[in-house]
Amino acid sequence: MFDRFNRNITYLRISVTDRCNLRCRYCMPEEGVALKHHTEILSFEEITDVVKTGVKLGINKIRLTGGEPLARKNVAELIRMIKAVDGIQDVGLTTNGTLLPQFAEDLWQAGLRRLNISLDTLNNDKYREITRNGELNDVLTGIGIAKKLGFDPIKINFVRIPGVNEADEKEVKQFCIRNELKIRFIRQMDLATGAFSPVEGGEGGNCSICNRLRMTADGKIIPCLFSDVGYSTREYGIEEAFAKALHIKPKQGKISVNHNFYNIGG
Ligand code: SAM
Ligand code: SF4
Repeated sequence: MFDRFNRNITYLRISVTDRCNLRCRYCMPEEGVALKHHTEILSFEEITDVVKTGVKLGINKIRLTGGEPLARKNVAELIRMIKAVDGIQDVGLTTNGTLLPQFAEDLWQAGLRRLNISLDTLNNDKYREITRNGELNDVLTGIGIAKKLGFDPIKINFVRIPGVNEADEKEVKQFCIRNELKIRFIRQMDLATGAFSPVEGGEGGNCSICNRLRMTADGKIIPCLFSDVGYSTREYGIEEAFAKALHIKPKQGKISVNHNFYNIGG
């Protein structure tokens, strides 16, 4: 499907939950966020139906995100269901990695191969400070298990947090080189003020070639990370929700007052 600016939309990022086991300072307030009632969250069958309709419209690449996607029960089953949709060429998952020791094997068995893992420091105390309660060792163990299983590519998302982790960048980079991981640097974004920064080492951030739409855990299709509107697949029907979002996809993202990373998945 092509938008008004002739961009071919082939990529859908799906948030599978608004819940998270961490509280990263740049993403969520300490007390957490008002969570949606579970009846508002799309079932695996509903998500798979959105993927099937997406494929008919030209989607061939899916990324699952959150909140923390591994905090949703049995997400491996969803991966199996999505991978079984004819026309899906590529499924990836973005995770904070802390639950990988528990779930990496299930994800592998379900056919997942592409992982993005968020890691902003290799210092235990700083990791706890940034994530408010995370254990760095869980992530490192998870990365080790994922590598052994054969996940490829494994990409590390490093958010540059001014005044907090500048000094950690080099160490994380070296860690990635040693472990044959790819690294992407992301500047901390403030959706409210619209400080819009490109993602270095990734395809994100260049609006002129943006090929993606997003879906929130409650099934709203969002045209852009910086859009304040989303169209509910339950309310409008899947095809119409896609059409409406596509129609208003902006030439360039600017500011957003209603969205945050935890509900649109970064
Ligand atoms: N929980 C998973 C994780 O942390 O990878 C997936 C969801 S998280 C919202 C997706 C990505 O968005 C992560 O790499 C995270 O670091 C990034 N992110 C969250 N808030 C951000 C912000 N304010 N600026 C830039 N990146 C942010
Ligand atoms: Fe959770 Fe990911 Fe947001 Fe951190 S960045 S609070 S891990 S959703």
